[in-house]
Amino acid sequence: MAAPAANRYHAPIMSERVETTLIHGKPVRYRIRRSKRARRLGLQVSARAGLEVVLPWRWALRDVDDALRAHAEWIDHQVDRHDVRFGPRTRELVDGAAIHMLGTPRRLDLLPLPEGRVRARITLSDEAIRAELPPGDLLDPRPALRRWLRRLARARLEDRVAHFAELHGFDPRRVIVGERTSRWGSCSSRGTLSFCDRLIMAPPEVIDAVVCHELCHLRHLNHGLSFKALLKMVCPDHDRHMDWLREHHDEMEF
Ligand SMILES: [Zn+2]
Repeated sequence: MAAPAANRYHAPIMSERVETTLIHGKPVRYRIRRSKRARRLGLQVSARAGLEVVLPWRWALRDVDDALRAHAEWIDHQVDRHDVRFGPRTRELVDGAAIHMLGTPRRLDLLPLPEGRVRARITLSDEAIRAELPPGDLLDPRPALRRWLRRLARARLEDRVAHFAELHGFDPRRVIVGERTSRWGSCSSRGTLSFCDRLIMAPPEVIDAVVCHELCHLRHLNHGLSFKALLKMVCPDHDRHMDWLREHHDEMEF
């Protein structure tokens, strides 16, 4: 089983649930975040997170409905002002946009495929991601870029898992890399390590820290003292790298 969601080592990528409601007859998307510290319900609107409802731990979901109704005027105004009626603004993947790969921003160069070629070709250099795409993909390059990013992530993560497994004598059964929204990594009791493909956007040492964290779960499926001692030995700077993920996760949206 994966570790509990409340654990601080697993920097959550997104909070618990996303809902849609009607305000003044128009749909608005929002997400609800449960908080153990909050004493009262809070409403926040930002470009990065959209409309967020912070709900004190034991409060009921219908308290959210009441709050949304009570502040309909304010919400209606704010979601338009921040342009987040349908959720957080995702970055536009247009020619010249910056995309982080292995912790370094690269310029996205979108180009039509040369005459006579039918398959997309995407290459990574120190400064750029050069994507030669069929016309349909040029209009919306996200799916093609995501497939490419996932291939890179899979190669890198399998390689790093094998490296640290050999170095410290771990025995992972399987590595899965996919589009995850709630965790950067997890470890199952059967020895399967799962990772979010967007980890490839983080610096190499941060990727390694997540890999080491999940490998250590092969011996301790919790975050107890034995786990922490093992992790400290395998990856002394682990906590600092997790701080990096917490601070930069919004740059790693894709
Ligand atoms: Zn963990």
